[in-house]
Amino acid sequence: MIYHCNACKFNFSRYGEVTACPDCGSQNIRYAAAAERTEFLMYQDMIDQELAQQERMRPGSSGAA
Ligand SMILES: [Zn+2]
Repeated sequence: MIYHCNACKFNFSRYGEVTACPDCGSQNIRYAAAAERTEFLMYQDMIDQELAQQERMRPGSSGAA
């Protein structure tokens, strides 16, 4: 489930019940709207690709675990 913090506009994903924003600690959170979920997932995808790229560029790493 993806949540949105109304206080700091932070989007975050958590399993189970969430009572406060992990970024600012505000309890003013709600489920993310469709557009916010899309944005969040695109951002996560970007980070994943960046990490994968760093992994490939690391010397001595075969890339096949
Ligand atoms: Zn927050």
